[in-house]
Amino acid sequence: MYIYPDLQKDCCELCRRGAECGSIGRSLFGSHIICFHIGPKSGPQIIVQGGIHAREWVTARLVTAQAKTLLREKTPTGIYFLPMTNPDGALLAQKGAARFPNAARLERINGGGDFSLWKANARGVDLNCNFDARWGKGAGNRTDPAPSSCIGPSPESEPESAALARFTRRVRPVLTVSYHALGREIYYEFGQRGEALERDRAVARAAGRFLGYRVVGGDLGSAGGYKDWCVSRLGITALTVEIISERRSHPLTERDLEGEEKNIWLPLLLAELCEKNGGSG
Ligand SMILES: [Zn+2]
Repeated sequence: MYIYPDLQKDCCELCRRGAECGSIGRSLFGSHIICFHIGPKSGPQIIVQGGIHAREWVTARLVTAQAKTLLREKTPTGIYFLPMTNPDGALLAQKGAARFPNAARLERINGGGDFSLWKANARGVDLNCNFDARWGKGAGNRTDPAPSSCIGPSPESEPESAALARFTRRVRPVLTVSYHALGREIYYEFGQRGEALERDRAVARAAGRFLGYRVVGGDLGSAGGYKDWCVSRLGITALTVEIISERRSHPLTERDLEGEEKNIWLPLLLAELCEKNGGSG
């Protein structure tokens, strides 16, 4: 299992090797949302984030591996890596509720002590439904705390989603990538039209060709997601990349990352595309 202390160890290693390491804020129960940066500090930037859904914590290991490998490469844009944007959720999915002060409440919400399929943060809000993008209008959205799909009391009500949105507004990236699992698919659409749609589709297709993943058009009833917010509020290219074959099932293990190695190079491919497009996605 790739747990938070492993991420902290990787953070130290990356720091030693010259990556800039920091935190974009803290989770509800006080864990830092760890961030690495490689490449140029000025000019166009890319943000790659993983682990926003608790049970998809394997994506944190992938995003850290990207930072470790790409640190040795020359990248034309800066790249920020946020491997685990929901650290409380990951701990909950991996180790259960015992370490949380609200354990009894969490077990009630979850309907038992097995949290391996939990997606939300540690008060039952699905962070990827908590952004200001058609908030609350998604298929399957709910208002009561739950293992998944709860939108929270208002957009960015959660410390984790608020930190991610604040950080993104500050960096003003040209492109974001959100790692999820599973299905080996790429999503990029959220109501954009004209040139923006063409631009984003071209990037999604390039990524799809590179990874051998299916590119899925339309928004499929999505709302309140980080990708949705990046597309509709910031007007930038934002990809959701679902790793791992749909033949596998949750809960995932690190072994499910076998065969996903090409993803390590995706941020570099996207950085090169951004440079070719003159600094935009
Ligand atoms: Zn997900």
